[in-house]
Parts: sequence; structure tokens; C-alpha cells
Amino acid sequence: MNKDFQYVVEQFADIRILRYRIPGFDELPLPKKLYLYYLSEAALCGRDILWDQNNQDNLALRKNLELIYHVLQAKNVTGEAFRQLETLLKRVWFSNGFHHHYSTDKLKPAFTANDLKGWLALLSEEQLTSLGYHRSDELFQWLYKVLFDPNYAAKRVSQEMDVDLVNASANNFYEDVTQSEVEEYYKGLQKEGDKAPISAGLNSKLVKENDQLVEKVWRVGGLYGAAIEKIVGWLRKAQQVAENEEQKQIIELLCRYYATGDLKLFDDYNIAWLKEQAGDIDFVNGFIEIYGDSLGIKATWESLVNIKDAAETQKAAVISEQAQWFEDRSPVDEQYRKKKVTGVSMKVINAVMLGGDCYPATPIGINLPNPEWIREQYGSKSVTLDNITHAYHQASLTSGVIEEFAYDEAEIQLHKTYGAIADNLHTHLHECLGHGSGIMLPGVKQEDLKAYGSVIEETRADLYGLYFMGDEKMLELGLVPHMDVAKAQYNSYIRNGLMVQLARVEPGKNIEQAHMRNRQLISQWVYEHGKENHAITMYQQGGKTYYVVNDHDALRQLFAKLLKEVQRIKSTGDMEAAKKLVETYGVQVEHKLHAEVLERYKKLKVAPYSGFINPVLQAVTNTNGDITDVEVDYSESYHDQMVRYGKCYSFL
Ligand code: ZN
Repeated sequence: MNKDFQYVVEQFADIRILRYRIPGFDELPLPKKLYLYYLSEAALCGRDILWDQNNQDNLALRKNLELIYHVLQAKNVTGEAFRQLETLLKRVWFSNGFHHHYSTDKLKPAFTANDLKGWLALLSEEQLTSLGYHRSDELFQWLYKVLFDPNYAAKRVSQEMDVDLVNASANNFYEDVTQSEVEEYYKGLQKEGDKAPISAGLNSKLVKENDQLVEKVWRVGGLYGAAIEKIVGWLRKAQQVAENEEQKQIIELLCRYYATGDLKLFDDYNIAWLKEQAGDIDFVNGFIEIYGDSLGIKATWESLVNIKDAAETQKAAVISEQAQWFEDRSPVDEQYRKKKVTGVSMKVINAVMLGGDCYPATPIGINLPNPEWIREQYGSKSVTLDNITHAYHQASLTSGVIEEFAYDEAEIQLHKTYGAIADNLHTHLHECLGHGSGIMLPGVKQEDLKAYGSVIEETRADLYGLYFMGDEKMLELGLVPHMDVAKAQYNSYIRNGLMVQLARVEPGKNIEQAHMRNRQLISQWVYEHGKENHAITMYQQGGKTYYVVNDHDALRQLFAKLLKEVQRIKSTGDMEAAKKLVETYGVQVEHKLHAEVLERYKKLKVAPYSGFINPVLQAVTNTNGDITDVEVDYSESYHDQMVRYGKCYSFL
């Protein structure tokens, strides 16, 4: 890999922008390049769907801010307030809207309302008209409400207790309905004993019209139809050059689902997609993840186009083949184990294009499809994104975070030697074995744990990975060169779960994001329960706190103990226990420690969140207009990419 490649592109507010490479792209034969190209275009065409799903004002706000910014830039406006406008625009781009991508709190501008008023006065009549306004004070009022009014759309996804979650969330999935109306409505659609329930409500907005609840389906000819049509157009081109017949059939099902919104077709598509394993190229494109909805019903749009990393996949395949071995030895109660683990596929991929909810904040692994009955019957496809992880690791080596939070030189060295391989392995185990493990008792449903469902599920998958990472089987399978890899992972997990990740939480706030809750839950629980035998010790030196793992074996047994309980909660749908566990260990932040972490982190000047810009895939055509090659370019800036996407992929 090219040593000069710049992984870190830029940094603003709490965000770092990174870049990833697509290894081996240039050497691919033309049909594969074309397939990737068409799928990538389809991935970019859904961008505005996500923006609108996040909040109904997002698309208009983006248009306004982009115009104001470029007008000021053309007039050579400079100064601190202007720089803060630039930062806000970059943050809005990053969050796909005006709520923080992680905390989902409304972003706060660091310029004043007066600054804004002054800028708007610089807009010409024509420019105002292009934004749909006659007078700049009308535009000001609207922008003031969206950007400065703390009571307007304060939170994108509310997780508070004892509130109407639909009402308290600013996302755009429901209109004029209450939480209980939504819950009633979807409960009414469930059929008793249905062995293949569709994901009712997944691809629609629920609104009240003339006192009736109506679903506005996201499909061709429906809501978001203009963007979905474009997506389908590119998918149809991709279908022509797919690697095999199965892929063509998958695209067929997906296009028919997009045309009709029929969720039964979506499940058919999911099953066909699961079965297709032969090709090198794969993709996700659709309404997939439900984190954006507090009720876990509505899915945000996302896309990920990828190509298999053959060498890494071979390594990971070893884990898949042993899935049953692991399940049989899982430290959970016998009755909650899966008797026969099927279809646990394990693939290491490289991202080629990220879209929708995968961009710019990017997952490092995915495990799909989501419906539990499909997972139980057909298994799931689990992938880790090697080029993304690689870029993260390259960027982290120069950040100084490890040096600051690790206790001593030995811990630092262990991390530098084994940190990357440990992280990758944990992701493999989490995605592949963890999520695919265990069963739910008859009648127990995913939704039984309500708002605690995702935290419990992530906790379960993480613990499964942590526990087996410390198994000698890792050595035997050749997955690690030394058992110290597990030690490196245990150290960094605790370091992160108890301290480092607090850098992402605003002062005075508690933890809200599911993955962060689950990491603190695990770390805090094992710390508390391991006090007696000194599994983990807290040290304070020179005003700095350190958590040091003294006994990795004892820690492993604690992971086992917690996994056993978490699996019981999941298997039985024990909502009360889930709530107690999450609220006791996963949510509250100790304010003194939090302040210390923020202080130490601040000195490093490293933004706590990262995301990626995409490479540019450029079709090279001959005089007949035929594509003769696809070239990849990595030189585009964050600003240019965002502006280009806004120009070329706005269909709503
Ligand atoms: Zn997970």
C-alpha cells in the first residue's frame, strides 16, 4: 500500500474525516469494475432519503446553508463568524442533517443570530427566490427556528423514560400520531403464530389523515419515489453485468420490492441475498437499520457496496466453520444455546462506496438481515470492512490516545503489537458468532425488550467475542500468533469502556448511544464484580485515573458470567432485568471522571468521532459512449465531495 496515502483528510468540531482505499481495484476485469460502478451510483442516489428521514427540514436547511456559504465565499467574507458557519455546514453534512450523528442532539451554531441576519442581507433577490423566499427576514425566521430555538426539534431520537417517544423525537417517521397509537397500530398488524412475519412498518411513514392512520410507503410512485426511481435505474444497469444468475435474481427482487413496497418481497430478497455466496462483489441497498427510530420500527436508508478481501476472508472462514464448536461451549444456559448453528457466513470485505446511513460515519462490520425468523432459519451474512478498519488503525497510531490512557509502557507496546489484529478478531467474533448465537424461547419477540433491545443485543455479541477471544482455540485455529492478543483486547476494551469513550459524551450528559451503553455496561459490571479478586484495579497518579487489568483469566470468567445473564434476558424477553442492567451500569456517567477524561482528551487535540469520504469512481468512455474502464480517484476534498453530491444526487 502506498506510504504517501493520506488517511486523515481534515478535522473540525468533534469530527475527523478519513479516507479509505480500495485495494486491487485497478487490476479488476472490466465487468467487475462496471458492476461496482453501477452499484455505487445506486448507493449515492439515496442520499437525500436519509436526510429527509432524519428531519423534514434537513434538505431545505442544507440548500440554504450551502448557498449562504458560497455567496459569502464569493464575496470574500472572512473572520471568525464565517469560519463558524463553515464548521456548522461541515457538521450538518457529516450528520446528514442538523442533529449530531451520534448523540442525536441538535447542533449548536457558534455564530450568532445577528451574524446570520447580516449574511442574509447579502443575498440577492434572485438567490432568495431560488430558496423559495421573497424577503430575507422570512428566511431568517425559519433559519432561526431551526438553528437557534432550543425547543424546536431538540433531539432526533429520544430515549428518555416516561415521555411519548414519537413526540419527543424529531425524526420524520411519524406525523400527528402518538407513541401508543403507533404501538397499537403495529400490534394490530401482527398475526398470532406467524412464522414468517414481515417487518411491518419498516418502509413507510405513519401519518394521521382524517382521523385515520395511513402508511405512506417509500417506493417508486410513493414517498421518496423520485430518488428510489434513480436507485432502481442504476440497479437495472448493474443487473446486466452481475457476476452470476443469483445476483441478477437478487437485484430483480430488490427492484420489485422498490417498485411495490411489498415487505414480503423484501424478505424474499433478504433470503436470496443470504444464499448468494459465490460472487466477489456484494452490496446492501435499502431501508435497513432501525436505530433511527426510538420504537425500532422504521428503517433508515443506507447502502454499502463492497468487494471481498480474499486473503482475510480465508482467515475468517476458519471461525465460521467452527461456529457449532463455539456455540456448544458458550457459557450460557444449555436451553438458550442454538442446537444447530446454520449459515454463519464470515466474510472480510473492502468498502467501495458508502451511502445513506453508512456515510460519512461508517460501520466497521455489519450483520444482516435483521428479521429474527430469517436469521434463525437461514442464518445471517456477517462482514467486517477491512479497508475501513485499516484506515482507522493507521489514523490512530499518530493520535496519542493510547499513550495518554494506557497505564504503562508494557500496555502501550501490547497495543501497538497486537491492537489491530485484536480489534479485527473481536469484530469477526462479535458479528459472526455473537449475533448469530443463542435462541429465544417460543413466543418471545425481539421487541419485548423495547428501548433496551439494541443495547442488550450488542452487549451479548460483544461478550461472546470477548469470551472466546481468550480461548486457546484461537491459537489452535491459527487466528492469533499469541494469546497476548486477547490481553491487548481486554485491556483496550476496559480502557475504552470505562474511560476513553467518555470523550464522546458532552459534559453533564449521560450515555445514550446503544454501542456506548453496552461497552460501559460490560466494563462497569466486570469492574464492580471483579473488585473482590482484583481482576481490574483503578489507580490514580498525578491527577490521572487508570484502569489496569491484573488478571485476564479472572476477567474472562466475569465476561462469561455476564454473558450467561444477558443471554437469559434476551432468550426470555425479561424487560425488567434488561432495564435494570442497562440503567445501573450502562447509562450513568461519573461526572468527576468524565471531566478528567474530557480534559485529557482535549489536550490531544484529536476529534472523538471519525467518518469517511468516498473515492471517486469515474467511468471512462469511448467515442460511442461505451464505458471502457472505471478509474478510481482519491483526491477529492470533503467540501468538494459534499457539494458534488448535493448537485448530482439530489432528487427530492
Ligand atoms: Zn453488533
